[in-house]
Amino acid sequence: MNEHDSERLAGLLVGEGLVPADDEMSADVVVFNTCTIRENADLKLYSALGHLKSEKERRPGMQIAVGGCMAQKDRERIIERAGWVDVVFGTHNLASAPALLKRAAAEGPLVEVWDVPDHEAARDMAPALYAVRELPWAAWMTIQTGCDNTCAYCIVPAVRGEEISRPFEDLVAEGEMLARAGVTEVTVLGQNVNSYGRDITGRRPLFADLLRALGEIEGIERIRFTSPHPKDLRPETIAAMAETPAVCPQLHLPLQSGSDRVLSAMRRGYSAERYLARLADARSRIEDLHVTTDLIVGFPGETEADFEETLAVVAEADYDGAYTFIFSPREGTRAAAMVEDFVAPETIAERFSRLKEVLDRSALRHHEAREGLCEEVLVEGPSRRNDQMLSGRTRQGKLVHFPVGEHPLRPGSLVDVTVTHGAPYHLMAELVGVRRGPRHKTRLSVTGA
Ligand code: SF4
Repeated sequence: MNEHDSERLAGLLVGEGLVPADDEMSADVVVFNTCTIRENADLKLYSALGHLKSEKERRPGMQIAVGGCMAQKDRERIIERAGWVDVVFGTHNLASAPALLKRAAAEGPLVEVWDVPDHEAARDMAPALYAVRELPWAAWMTIQTGCDNTCAYCIVPAVRGEEISRPFEDLVAEGEMLARAGVTEVTVLGQNVNSYGRDITGRRPLFADLLRALGEIEGIERIRFTSPHPKDLRPETIAAMAETPAVCPQLHLPLQSGSDRVLSAMRRGYSAERYLARLADARSRIEDLHVTTDLIVGFPGETEADFEETLAVVAEADYDGAYTFIFSPREGTRAAAMVEDFVAPETIAERFSRLKEVLDRSALRHHEAREGLCEEVLVEGPSRRNDQMLSGRTRQGKLVHFPVGEHPLRPGSLVDVTVTHGAPYHLMAELVGVRRGPRHKTRLSVTGA
């Protein structure tokens, strides 16, 4: 979500006539779009701002803005700690960043952070349309902002506000526009995509309908989404996934803990049994489903018995992969106040490595089971570690590397490969054939030799 917001910000600034700079030291305007989900966001921000201090003294006309979740939370504190910052804006007034930069150039430093979202502005699709996309063949699509849940460890509702869904027809129009621009893969984004539209209809979520509508757009061949909340994963969504060919067989279903006691303290709204039942339903309806999850180790009060319940659920869920996090308190959340129940760091570290071992084993087993299979791969470009290899993603979202070969394959091409080797975090493969080149147009340089 944060990365897509950065694309939207870049799009708004380009719309004002700015052009991307090579690096922050040569830029006239530097915008930090902060995220507080990860630990140490403030350390990273102030160290990055510190690097720019002397540059700002050398070029006083340069402007520095700070936006995003940390700005929403800390507001004036940012200018108090880094007096060379020109503008602080929040998550609810991202679209006003260009205007604030102009005002600050005339009036001096300013902090403008809205406490609540303007519903009309949040639903307005214009900022998304102006997004400067990082990849021409793949795009993110934000369908809702904010979150109505109250997970005890999470800062998102405090910094992103209540759930606001973008209009259904705007999203379909955006999908059509992306398809016309040559985008093949759309990743739908929301804090709780399953409740998309509940605020529009009053009750009935529209997520399943949205998947089906996006799936009808010619040219959009792959649809992914993140994240569905397990308590809101409805049979209609599972049916839409199963019956819409463009929707990829991939489900990221955050478990967080396998202990009902911890799930209740986390205020997640489901039990381990209900979670597993929904997962089993999804697996029975969607062929070859790739399942990943999020897990927090060491939530306050987590006992060895709780942790063993997590291991048992993880074993039963048989994940293809997982994002594992060590609990770290976020100021202002319920969990941050549970200081007396904090788990000792060495206990957390020991549990974390036991959990990783179980997860790595199941990921490896899933990947080895794909050896010899033919997979459709959307090419992303040369492998980061070896330019003689190309990398891409299968329909399940698995990372694949395969030798470049004789065909000059451009990013965005769709190819078939045979999997030769499964590793815990990726697959190795051989190219079998090329289905088609990229759908997007590539601009050729007119100045090059
Ligand atoms: S569902 Fe829970 S974890 Fe996810 S954004 Fe909302 S409050 Fe945070």
